[in-house]
Amino acid sequence: MSDPNRTEKLLEQERARLNDIRSSLTEAAEDVERDPTGDPSAGGHVADAGSEMFDRARDLSIISEIDAQLADIDHAEARLSNGTYGTCEACGKTIDSERLAVRPATRFCIEDQLGLEREMQARGA
Ligand SMILES: [Zn+2]
Repeated sequence: MSDPNRTEKLLEQERARLNDIRSSLTEAAEDVERDPTGDPSAGGHVADAGSEMFDRARDLSIISEIDAQLADIDHAEARLSNGTYGTCEACGKTIDSERLAVRPATRFCIEDQLGLEREMQARGA
């Protein structure tokens, strides 16, 4: 088993990193709201508005991905305190420590993760 204190630190670092990305994206999204590309009479803004909406949609999807990862980190911390951290939630096997070092908040072993991703792709997600 890996050292819980080290794991906690890893999770904290990961959370801080995600929060950083999230706040920069949120600020960018708010800038768009404060400065609506409106005024159609100005002309020539149509393409800009379109690409800004695209950027915004992309940012929002990244933000929701980050929120999901932050939720995984909360979840991992709860599992750390109740002693189930480091085991796969699908099959119950111990997750490879190298995998945990790279993705400390992961909930599944590599086999189950790949299986889930294949399933998502099959569903066209
Ligand atoms: Zn598994």
